[in-house]
Amino acid sequence: MAENKEVRVRYAPSPTGMQHIGGVRTALFNYLYARSKGGKFILRLEDTDRTRYDEKYVQNLYDTMAWLGLEWDEGGDKGGEYGPYVQSERFELYKKYAFELVEKGEAYYCFCDSERLERIRKIQTENKMAPGYDRNCRHLTPEEVKANLDAGKPYVIRLKVPMEGVTKFHDHLLGDIEWKNEDISPDPVLLKSDGFPTYHLANIVDDHFMKISHVMRAQEWIPSTPLHVQMYRAFGWEHPEFCHLPMVNGKDGQKLSKRHGATSVNEFRARGYLPKAIINYVAMLGCSYIDGQDMYTLEELAKNFKLEHLNKSPAVFDYKKLEWYNGQYIRMMSDEELYDAVLPFITKTGDAALDINVSEEFPAPHVGPEYSGIAMGDDGEPVCVDKSMNMTSADVKAALMQLMPLIKERLKYLTDAAEMVHFLFTEPKVPAADQIIPKKLDAAKTKEILEAAKDFVSGIFGKTHEEAEEAARSEAEKLGVKLGDFMMPIRMAVTGSRVSPPLIGSIWILGKEKSIARIEKTLKAL
Ligand code: GLU
Repeated sequence: MAENKEVRVRYAPSPTGMQHIGGVRTALFNYLYARSKGGKFILRLEDTDRTRYDEKYVQNLYDTMAWLGLEWDEGGDKGGEYGPYVQSERFELYKKYAFELVEKGEAYYCFCDSERLERIRKIQTENKMAPGYDRNCRHLTPEEVKANLDAGKPYVIRLKVPMEGVTKFHDHLLGDIEWKNEDISPDPVLLKSDGFPTYHLANIVDDHFMKISHVMRAQEWIPSTPLHVQMYRAFGWEHPEFCHLPMVNGKDGQKLSKRHGATSVNEFRARGYLPKAIINYVAMLGCSYIDGQDMYTLEELAKNFKLEHLNKSPAVFDYKKLEWYNGQYIRMMSDEELYDAVLPFITKTGDAALDINVSEEFPAPHVGPEYSGIAMGDDGEPVCVDKSMNMTSADVKAALMQLMPLIKERLKYLTDAAEMVHFLFTEPKVPAADQIIPKKLDAAKTKEILEAAKDFVSGIFGKTHEEAEEAARSEAEKLGVKLGDFMMPIRMAVTGSRVSPPLIGSIWILGKEKSIARIEKTLKAL
């Protein structure tokens, strides 16, 4: 690529849906390329399709980019030298350039009405012909055009696509590409009858005037590129360099979609994924950085990003791998960071937990007071919902802080935290016999285990973790049961759940009296 040109790249979504993984990947690669070259990253809103437009998608775009930490240098809400960066604020410009192409003989007025277009379409389908405009108005004389205009007939402006020859362009990733001009859509509309531009016109005019150096977008846009190259030629402008990014597919080789699982960033956000995990994983989709290294900050990615390291073949989105990254980043948080990150999910439900509007689309995961036993007090401090627990906000906070290092090891998502902390703040239901008796044992043996557990629990206070573990092992041995079968009934009695943070630490935090009282209660019921 030309080395001396200032790198100016853009992410140019249409606000017709929520930001999804594919879009984020395009945004991220543009961002990384700009940062790696000391260039500019531009956020442009392609809102020419007014029927599918919704303000909430615009908000979602800005929210998502900010949440991911992808800062843009110029953009809709920020301005910049070549703004405005919202296409609906630039309609006059597009009109002007559409007419300029007419003047140059590169585009023409088309007066065909929808009935006529519908008739052509029908004939084409019936005769198994390629679909497209039959170029009827391309051959109108200037007098005919004038007469139609004078009569006030509605019109669109169409590009005169060459009918012979080929269009060639170079793609940085895919190499030289050649299209027969007869395979380009016959004379696409540039300006609609309501004076609005189509995507093609607005996109080209903007890339030109915003001095975009490289167009980096998904490979699904390749079929539009020969047309774009023809438009640049018609205007007499140099086109940007092209780099079409590999597709992001699901495991079945199909384009990633809802069928595969979550695709919208909000959905991942609501599930308790960290932006760093999403950035790191998405950056690995179709690109490599340093051999053998998996974990990267955004800065490291930018430093090591090279177009030469992009893959041609589609990337496969692996939910398990993203989950792995999320766990890794959770474990890298300090206890204070984790506390701050999980607190909203523990104390609030649905939208309130996130400050974004998600519940209308996604079922809320198990978060909030119902699952954790903690709510948010008016003073912004967590409070225990069950007053009979006699815990002050300070007690709640202290218990949570003590628990952070323990749950950190177990969390896959931030939303898992609510169910993991609840045993500290609610009296668990006394477990039913079938929940507490280990598979190969009976009620009598389980009672023996719980009796022994009382001594075991009193004994571990003041011990080190190794000593406490050793004590558990020797108790199990004495009883002639496996370590797991010794721990499980205790875990159920103390926490009310088979999955909890590590047991010994949990007992330490809950305290001797409460732990033993819960074991007593369970024993009585058995
Ligand atoms: N507005 C297009 C989109 O929604 C932009 C495609 C391009 O980058 O040219 O993806």
